Order: sequence, then structure tokens, then C-alpha cells
Amino acid sequence: MKIIIDAGHGYSTPGKRSPSGMREYEFNREAALAAKETLLSYEKTEVYFTHSDKEDVSLMRRTGLANKIKADVFISIHANAFGSAWNEAHGVETYVHQTKPAAALSLAAIIQKKLAARTGLASRGVKAADFHVLRETKMTAVLVECGFMTNPKEAALLKTPLYRKVCGQAVALALAEHYKLSKKESSLYKVQAGAFSKKENAEALLRRLKGAGFDGFISRG
Ligand SMILES: [Zn+2]
Repeated sequence: MKIIIDAGHGYSTPGKRSPSGMREYEFNREAALAAKETLLSYEKTEVYFTHSDKEDVSLMRRTGLANKIKADVFISIHANAFGSAWNEAHGVETYVHQTKPAAALSLAAIIQKKLAARTGLASRGVKAADFHVLRETKMTAVLVECGFMTNPKEAALLKTPLYRKVCGQAVALALAEHYKLSKKESSLYKVQAGAFSKKENAEALLRRLKGAGFDGFISRG
């Protein structure tokens, strides 16, 4: 199946930043990459992007591309904001078009559940809106808001590689569940630097790696 992922905005889109200066696109593109990587570990998936690191692609071009390639599903990934100063608004939410197409609603329900469970953030539920990307796409379309850039705690999470990955993976796993995708065999390629039973030891290694100029994160398993 053809899946098209839409990381909202671009590097230089005005406004779309946290009060501390994180650009929303930085989160969106990393989450989109993680979603793609996970989706490609399933059989018969083709993954396309609407966005570009070079320019802020217009909404019309994004939906035009999705319609042109006849994608089966369109997923738009965003980080939320309430106003432009720090405040308490928080949680994750998923949107479908206000006509509430049944296929989008059932996919959105699974995405919302997985996103809230995997991020541990409050669920604001599935909502409906007349967003361009939901209205102008001819396929099932859903938009996810993965936490608030204007909430200090959530903004700190949105900056981390691990949180970006968790969000992208949650979206991919929801797609796999909804479309009953089967996992490719032997699709596990991991690079890890260590596995420890004590968290302090993992943290110590991560500090050393970071000191040596590598990016890294600790995952529990
Ligand atoms: Zn956005």
C-alpha cells in the first residue's frame, strides 16, 4: 500500500516554533522519518513524503502530490501550540475532517490510543476540523498533534530524538494495526552501544558517548 507522510511546515515557516526557539518542522520531520523506517519493516509498504528540507512546500502541493500518486492513506504530523507564550495546555490529539469519514475515524482512534499510550501524555481525543490537508486529499487522511510546543514539559520532550522516534513509531504501529500489515522477516537491524540492568550504567555510557560527539538515547526493553 502507498502511505504518504506529511511533516507539517518547513524549517523557515514563520511562527511555528516553541517559545524557546525549537522549530516545529524539526520535530515533524524526525517523527516522519521514524514512521517511515518502521513502516518499511512491514510487507508491501511504499512510503512517500510531501515535505522537503529545502523549502516550505505549500498545502496545495502536498495534497496535490498525495492525489497524483493515488496514495491509500495520508498522515500529517505536527506539534501543537496554544498561543505563543508558555502555558499549561497539554496532551496529544488526532484530527479527521469534519465530515468524519468512517475509515479516517477508525484509523484516528487507533493512532490516538497508541500515541497517548506510548508517549504517556494526556489524551485530548479524536477531533474534527476543516484542515486543508484533510479536506483536499482524496484518500483516508488523518492529522496528529504530538504534544504542545508551548508547554514547558512537552516542549522539552519534543526536542529529544527518543520522543520524536516514539511518536513516529506510534503512528506507524497504528497504521500496521489498522491495515493489518504483516511484518517482513528478518527486518531487525540495530546498532546499540550497550545493555545494562542498572539505569545509572546506561546513563554513564550515554554521557561518554555524548562527550565523544555521538547522539544517543536510552530505551527500556
Ligand atoms: Zn503544525
